Amino acid sequence: CGIIARIGGDDDSAVDELLTGLENLEYRGYDSAGLAIKNGGGPEVFKRQGEISHLKDALADEVPDGGLGIGHTRWSTHGPPSDANAHPHTDCTGEVAVVHNGIIENYDELKAGLRARGHAFESDTDTEVIPHLVEERLAAGADPETAFRETIEKLSGSYAVAMITKHDHAVYATRRGSPLVLGVDDGEYFLASDVPAFLDFTDDVVYLDDGDVVIVKPDGHRISTTEGETVERSVQTVEWDP
Ligand code: GLU
Repeated sequence: CGIIARIGGDDDSAVDELLTGLENLEYRGYDSAGLAIKNGGGPEVFKRQGEISHLKDALADEVPDGGLGIGHTRWSTHGPPSDANAHPHTDCTGEVAVVHNGIIENYDELKAGLRARGHAFESDTDTEVIPHLVEERLAAGADPETAFRETIEKLSGSYAVAMITKHDHAVYATRRGSPLVLGVDDGEYFLASDVPAFLDFTDDVVYLDDGDVVIVKPDGHRISTTEGETVERSVQTVEWDP
């Protein structure tokens, strides 16, 4: 139901800022919360059914360092609320972590194909097909951007998706029928379902269009169409009265 991503900024504060973002998204309603942090290697995932305080408990012993991460509050549509069904979802190798809002209408067919090709699933969600499809493309030699684009092409339904992988220091995201906005600060970026998620950090916003694919790295971002053509979208300063 809510997505937050954080790219750049201090290397050790992504978890704090993601948790703030998740709390700011609570008004949308949710039954589970989770996040994935990247710190050199593959994404580390923490997720829990229930309140954000449960997620904080899961992080209490071990707050991972890392400047880049994705977070999610879930309002379940496919699969009951549970730790396993909470987002982020990963592939078989644990190299790809994905958060998703919305519904993948053709997930049944995609899942059957993936199962037939040897993929094992850990959740009942429609979402989990996404990291597995990306994994297949990566295994076939695609770079993360190509793997992400080829995966998105296979999805029908409504979605906002954000992905991180072991392979580079970037967040890949797209939207179709579900909201997603980019927050721009000095050397720091945010992606979120809605502006209030990151208003504590920046009020400079880029509104993404349906079909936009955005790749965000600490030193810049690129927005392009589904076909890969770069598009310019203006930065707007929002005046938000909470
Ligand atoms: N369909 C997904 C699920 O049930 C995402 C739900 C959401 O938007 O939070 O896990």
